Amino acid sequence: MRRPFIAGNWKMHGSRAQNAELIEGLLLGLPGQVPVDIAVCPPDVYLWEVGRLLKDSIVKLGAQTVCAESIGAFTGETSAAMLKDVGCTYVIVGHSERRTIYREDDALVARKFLAAQSQSLIPILCVGETLEEREKGQTMQVISRQLKAVLDVAAPGALQQAVVAYEPVWAIGTGKNATPEQAQEVHAHIRAEVAARDANIAARLQVLYGGSVKAGNAKEIFAMPDVDGGLIGGAALKADEFLKICAAAQAH
Ligand code: PEP
Repeated sequence: MRRPFIAGNWKMHGSRAQNAELIEGLLLGLPGQVPVDIAVCPPDVYLWEVGRLLKDSIVKLGAQTVCAESIGAFTGETSAAMLKDVGCTYVIVGHSERRTIYREDDALVARKFLAAQSQSLIPILCVGETLEEREKGQTMQVISRQLKAVLDVAAPGALQQAVVAYEPVWAIGTGKNATPEQAQEVHAHIRAEVAARDANIAARLQVLYGGSVKAGNAKEIFAMPDVDGGLIGGAALKADEFLKICAAAQAH
């Protein structure tokens, strides 16, 4: 019922030459149609050119963050309308690196979510606990708080046009992924929280896992019933690795 979705978060990596090579590799390895939604999220400065390279392929374009404001004197920021204008379909909001390094709190993440949807961009809302929070037994509480911040301000039905990514902070870029069982437990919790407001939307919601997913561990994580694909960081920078992860998602 739910299509798997694999999104690559390139973070602050790439160059025009490297991006062209990566996209060429991806497009060569992908048949015309696959039963998986696929997106890449390059740095803003490369969005337009990567969008041109993707042309009419099945790979969609996404951004890594968005400004909560719509227009004006916000030096260095990029609005949702601008992301839409250069061809984005998706935008990541609430990535833990934004929450931690740039001090984006739940309220700001919620405003970014609304800004994205105001321009018909599909937000990929990231939630996840730190190692300390997990060790204190606070994982579900943290996830619920992060979700509630968005659900309380978004219109009823907003998650119909959104994706949620569970990204345990301790698993991002560390090489230490959550076990499939740990991921499933949190994914089921996310779906239950959404179902408490709207069971139909919860049943259709794509919930991705992110945190050290590689070709070697993707299959077992994606086999979990509430895991609908992945948000991929490091492994999205190599075409063959990313393609293998897409194939693993397809197998489910
Ligand atoms: C991410 O940054 O969203 C991520 C999941 O990174 P990695 O796959 O490198 O852990």
